[in-house]
Amino acid sequence: KKLRVGVVFGGRSGEHEVSLRSAASILEAIDRKKYDVVPIGIAKNGQWLSGGKAQALLAGESSQGSLPAKAGRKQAHAKAGAAVANALETEAADELSSLDTGKLDVVFPVLHGTFGEDGTVQGMLEMADIAYVGSGVLGSAVGMDKDAMKVMFAAAGLPIVKHVTLLRSEWKGSPRKCVARVEERLQYPVFVKPANLGSSVGISKVKTRAELAPAINEAAKFDRKIVIEEGVGGTGRTRATGKARELEIAVLGNDDPIASVVGEIVPDREFYDYESKYDSNSTSEPVIPAKLSRAESKQMREMAVRAFRACDLSGLARVDFLMEAAPSGTPGKAAKPAKIYLNEVNTMPGFTSISMYPKLWQASGIPYAELIDRLIQLALERHAERK
Ligand code: ATP
Ligand code: MG
Ligand code: MG
Ligand code: MG
Repeated sequence: KKLRVGVVFGGRSGEHEVSLRSAASILEAIDRKKYDVVPIGIAKNGQWLSGGKAQALLAGESSQGSLPAKAGRKQAHAKAGAAVANALETEAADELSSLDTGKLDVVFPVLHGTFGEDGTVQGMLEMADIAYVGSGVLGSAVGMDKDAMKVMFAAAGLPIVKHVTLLRSEWKGSPRKCVARVEERLQYPVFVKPANLGSSVGISKVKTRAELAPAINEAAKFDRKIVIEEGVGGTGRTRATGKARELEIAVLGNDDPIASVVGEIVPDREFYDYESKYDSNSTSEPVIPAKLSRAESKQMREMAVRAFRACDLSGLARVDFLMEAAPSGTPGKAAKPAKIYLNEVNTMPGFTSISMYPKLWQASGIPYAELIDRLIQLALERHAERK
């Protein structure tokens, strides 16, 4: 008997369009001999769509090609209650809540960002007792919150960059105190980020005190919690001027996860911002496998698995690292080994056939369609294990 797989896409976050692209790739590649696929769309306003309406949401956007740069970002703040209420009233919610009648065997929530990657949809699926791809409520929530994530990493002894977390209310209440706290602990350049987001939305690189307040105000538009990190750059004297190396590893599994080869992103600008991620003119190119010593890649793959466990993840995650870049063309003996920091985990990373996560598995011997298969299998195993 074929399994009925609900593929959920779109969503209310600033990463709506990215999700549509990921889902379109999955729907194209999934083995139709094994699976009956039920497309389930979530519009930007939070409305759940099934059948022809879901197809239209997917087709409308994916045929447009490039992504509207900032469309839908603001929706990330809309209240969670509305999304759930919507979901319960609409057709797709019928699909979800009628699982006990055997309608859906598993759900693949191909959602990035808030109300999808952050444990909210996962909570709904838990309540409906439906198997789903990816991390559970806790792992998804931790993986979305850069502040909580660092707490988990640090507790597991994993190296993280120095950082300061501010609440929006603290910032509004006393900006001067906040600036002092940042400068007491961190050296410029710093990166200012909304705690719960992705795709670099709301993130700024700040080189001077004058740029700090505008960057915090920008991040505060997206979240009540703001994370400010010391920038990773070059080593020693080039710390402030160099650009970090960005390395990524794909992890797959539940209790006994495996790590892919290491890939490297080489952004075509100052940092890997929204435009360099999604603008079709961007020349940011992945290098797979990354040029690293055997010892470095072994160390990073071990760290990736530890990070996955530290956040209690399951199914899949892309684990991102920042590495100090040695000044180029330094002659003579190698300096101290470059420091490696864990930047973040992404529990539902970009999943088009050319996204980093599937590419890393492709390079590690797992083709795209098989990856989808394995993820569905892992979802069923996790669901069975939870009983
Ligand atoms: P994703 O799309 O991977 O979910 P994100 O929105 O969660 O991204 P980060 O990965 O934290 O954001 O940061 C985005 C980019 O900003 C990084 O890929 C890197 O280019 C740059 N960056 C972030 N933090 C630092 C740092 N501490 N030092 C140097 N560069 C950084
Ligand atoms: Mg992220
Ligand atoms: Mg992300
Ligand atoms: Mg990232």
